[in-house]
Amino acid sequence: MTTPSSEGLRRYPGGYYDVGNDDPQPCTCTPTCAPRCTGSCGCEACALAFAEFCDIAGLIGMDGFTVPEAEAVRRYQLGR
Ligand SMILES: [Zn+2]
Ligand SMILES: [Zn+2]
Repeated sequence: MTTPSSEGLRRYPGGYYDVGNDDPQPCTCTPTCAPRCTGSCGCEACALAFAEFCDIAGLIGMDGFTVPEAEAVRRYQLGR
C-alpha cells in the first residue's frame, strides 16, 4: 500500500476512487505537480483520474488516445 503524500491528502483526501474499484488509490503528488496532475510524476491516483476523464470525454479508446496526448492533457487541465 502506497502512502499518500501530504500534498496528495490535500488533493484527494481519501485517495482517488476508481469506478468499479473499492480500494482508493493514494495520491503521491508533490506541491510542484500541476493542479490537475495527469500522473506524470508517477502518482497512480492522478493517472487514474486522468484516464477516467479521457474515457468519459471520449479522448481515449481501445487503441489509446483518440486525440494527441498533449491535447487530452490540455483539456483535462481546463476541466472539460
Ligand atoms: Zn496525485
Ligand atoms: Zn502529480
